[in-house]
Amino acid sequence: MKTEKILEVKHLKKYFPAGRNRLIKAVDDVSFDIYKGETFGLVGESGSGKSTTGQTIIRLYDATDGEVLFHGENVHAKKSRAEKLKFNRKMQMIFQDPSSSLNPRMTVLDIIAEGLDVHHLVKNEKERKERVEQLLEAVGLNKEHATRFPHEFSGGQRQRIGIARALAVEPELIICDEPISALDVSIQAQVVNLLKKLQKERGLTYLFIAHDLSMVKYISDRIGVMHLGHMVELADSEELYKNPVHPYTKSLLSAIPLPDPEYERGRTRITYDPSIHDTSEEPKFREIRPHHWVRCTSKEFEQYKKELGE
Ligand code: ADP
Ligand code: MG
Repeated sequence: MKTEKILEVKHLKKYFPAGRNRLIKAVDDVSFDIYKGETFGLVGESGSGKSTTGQTIIRLYDATDGEVLFHGENVHAKKSRAEKLKFNRKMQMIFQDPSSSLNPRMTVLDIIAEGLDVHHLVKNEKERKERVEQLLEAVGLNKEHATRFPHEFSGGQRQRIGIARALAVEPELIICDEPISALDVSIQAQVVNLLKKLQKERGLTYLFIAHDLSMVKYISDRIGVMHLGHMVELADSEELYKNPVHPYTKSLLSAIPLPDPEYERGRTRITYDPSIHDTSEEPKFREIRPHHWVRCTSKEFEQYKKELGE
C-alpha cells in the first residue's frame, strides 16, 4: 500500500447552470485521495461526472466548491501565472479521442514539443528535436514520425502521440480520460501496457477514467465508482471485485463478460434500481471495512455490513 498522498480531492463540487434556476450537479461532494505511484480508477456510466471531476482537478474548470490539494497545496487557490504554469506541468491529461485533441495542421514534432516550448524546457531547435525523438521512441513510435501529421496515423498511434505530448513536460500525475475507449479492442491492451510500462519507468501516478470495469481492474490499484455526480463506492481493486457493496457497483460488475464459460452460464445481469435505497436520511460516505467506503444511510450501512458478514 502506497502512503504518500499526491492528490487530495475534498468535497469537490462542480455545478453547471442549465437554464432558468436549474443546475446540473455534475460533481456533487466527491472526496478521494490518490497516492504517489498508484493508478486510481474512476468508473461509472456516461454522464456520471468522471470527466468533469478530472477536468476540475486539472483546473480546466473552476470548482463550485471543495478543494483539490496537490502535494498538500491548494491547486485552485493558486492565482499567479507562474504558479498556474507549475501545476500545469505537474498534471497532464490524455483524452479519449486522440483525433480531436491533436491539431491536424501541426506536425507531430510541434504537437509534442508544445509543452517543451511553453515551459522553456529546451535550449534550441536541435535539443527540441532530440527530445521529441526520444519521446516518440518511449511510446513505441519512431523518430521518422516527427515530420508527419496526425491524420497519417492509426487511432492507436495517435493515442501514443497524445501520451508523448503529456510526457514531454515530465508530469507526476496524468489524468487518462477514457484513453482506450475509442480504440479497437485489439489495440486497447497495447496502449494499457504502454501506460503501465511508462508508469514503472517514470514513477508516474494515474487517474484512469473508464465507463466499464473490465480494463480498469487490470490497471488500477484502487477504484472509485461514480454515479450521478456522487462517489458511491471506493476500495482496493481486489476488494471491490470480490466484495462489492453498493447496488450500483454490483450492477456494473455484472455487466463484465469473462472468458470463462462456467462463469458466463452463472452470470446474471443485475440492473440498478435507485428506488431501493433507504430515504430516511441523507446518505454519507462510510468506511465499511478498512479502506473500503460506500455511500449509504446508517440503516443501509448496517444491512451492507451483515451482507459482508461483518
Ligand atoms: P462522464 O465523463 O462520466 O460521462 P461528464 O463529467 O462528462 O460525465 O458529465 C457529467 C454531467 O455534467 C452530464 O450531465 C453532462 O451533461 C454535464 N456536463 C458536462 N460538461 C458540461 C458543461 N461544460 N456544461 C454543462 N453541462 C455539462
Ligand atoms: Mg467522460
